[in-house]
Amino acid sequence: MFDWLIVGAGFAGAVLAERLATQRGDRVLVVDRRNHIGGNAYDHYNEAGVLMHKYGPHIFHTNSDAILDYLSQFTKWRPYEHRVLGMVDGKQVPIPINLDTVNKLYDLNLTSEELVDWFAARAEKVENIQTSEDVVVSVVGRELYEKFFQGYTRKQWGLDPSQLDKSVTARVPIRTNRDDRYFTDTHQCMPLEGYTRMFERMLDHPNISVMLGTDYRDIGALIPHKRTIYTGPIDEFFDYRFGKLPYRSLRFEHETLDQEFALPTGTINYPQTEPFTRVSEYKHMTGQVHPKTAITREYSSATGDPYYPILRPESQLLFKRYEALAAKTADVWFVGRLATFRYYNMDQVTGQALATFRRIDDALPKVVARPIGRANGIGGKVAANVAA
Ligand code: FAD
Ligand code: UDP
Repeated sequence: MFDWLIVGAGFAGAVLAERLATQRGDRVLVVDRRNHIGGNAYDHYNEAGVLMHKYGPHIFHTNSDAILDYLSQFTKWRPYEHRVLGMVDGKQVPIPINLDTVNKLYDLNLTSEELVDWFAARAEKVENIQTSEDVVVSVVGRELYEKFFQGYTRKQWGLDPSQLDKSVTARVPIRTNRDDRYFTDTHQCMPLEGYTRMFERMLDHPNISVMLGTDYRDIGALIPHKRTIYTGPIDEFFDYRFGKLPYRSLRFEHETLDQEFALPTGTINYPQTEPFTRVSEYKHMTGQVHPKTAITREYSSATGDPYYPILRPESQLLFKRYEALAAKTADVWFVGRLATFRYYNMDQVTGQALATFRRIDDALPKVVARPIGRANGIGGKVAANVAA
C-alpha cells in the first residue's frame, strides 16, 4: 500500500515525492507516461555526447533564496546569465529591447535619458491595460511592438497579442539601460551536471518508487494507494467534462553540428522571419567543452503534448470551473503548470510544490512522526527504484 500516487515526475511531482518521503516517512509511487524523469526539464547526452534539453532550453532563475536552497540539496550549480539576440530587420539586436537595441536598429546614439523620451514620444495611451498588445504599445509604441512582439507572438500562440492576457508578453521587459541579460533574477544558474541528475537525487529514497512509460490510469486501480498528487493537464483528469482547456504545443527540431559553436548567444529569436520562433545552443548554458554542438529550433503547434497554458479571459473562466471541481475532489492534490493552468517557470512550480507540501503536512496526521534520512545522500542512484 502506497500513501501517495504521484502522477508526473517533473518539478511538481519530484519535489512532492521528495518532501513526503523524507519529511513524513510516507511511501510514494511516482508514475510518468514518458520514459524518463524530469518532465519538461529533462536533459540527456545525445548520440554525439553533447548535453541537451529534449524539450527546449531550460534556464534556472529565481529571486527566492529558499527555492534555490531547497534545490541545492540535490545539485551544485554553474553560474549562467542567459542572453538572447533577435534577428530584426536583418540585424542581430539584444532582446529584451534595451538602449543598444534601439541605437543599433535605428543607427542612433541615444543616451538612456534620451531613450526614455524617445519611447514616450512613440508610446500609445491605453486606458486599461489588459492584453499582450496593450502592455507593449503603451510603453514603446506600435513600430517596435510589430517588429519584436506581434510576429513572434502570432507564431508562438497562433493568436494576435491583442487576444492574449497581458501577462504573456509582460514576461519580457523593456529597458532603457544596456542590460542585455534575458533575466534579472538574483539567482541565475544551471545545475552543474544537468537537470536529470538533480531529479535522480531528489527521487533517490527507499520510500520512493518510480514507474516510467506508464499512464496512471492504467495502474491507478491496480496499485493500492491512499491519496493522489496530479501534475498532468487538469481537463484531462476530469475527462474534459466542461470542454478542452487550450494548451499550446511545440515541435522541437534538434540538430548536432560538427563545429564547436554555432550561435553567438544561448538563443536567437526570430520575430519577423523563419517558420520557427527561436533557435538555442545548449553549450552556452551547460558550459560543456566538446568539439561538436547541439541546437534546437522550436516550431509552435496547435497539436501535440501540452506545454503552455493559453491565457485568455475565456480559458481562465473554463479553468475556474475545473478548479472548483478539483477543490471538491477528495484526496487528490493538483499541482504544477498543467494541473493549475499557470504559465509558471521552474522555480515557481518548485515554490508551489513546497507550499502544497506544507498544506498537506498541516492537514494530515503523520503516519510516522519522524523525518527519516536520505538513502545514499547526494550522488546515489535512482536506478534501483526505476521500473523501466
Ligand atoms: P511537467 O514538467 O510538464 O511534468 C508533468 C509530467 O506529468 C510530464 O512528464 C507528463 O508526462 C506527466 N503526466 C501527465 N499526465 C500523465 C498521466 N496521465 N500519467 C502519467 N504521467 C503523466 N522554466 C524556467 O524556469 N526556465 C526556462 O528557461 C524554461 N524554459 C522552458 C522552455 C520550454 C520550451 C517549455 C515548454 C517550458 C519552459 N519552462 C522554463 C517551464 C518549465 O518547463 C516548467 O515550469 C516545469 O517543467 C513544469 O513542471 P511540472 O512538474 O509542472 O510539469
Ligand atoms: N515574445 C515576443 N518576442 C520575443 C520574445 C517573446 O513577442 O522576442 C512574447 C511571446 O508572446 C512569448 C512571450 O513574449 O510567448 C514570453 O516570452 P518568453 O521568452 O518568456 O517565452 P518562453 O521562454 O516561456 O517560451
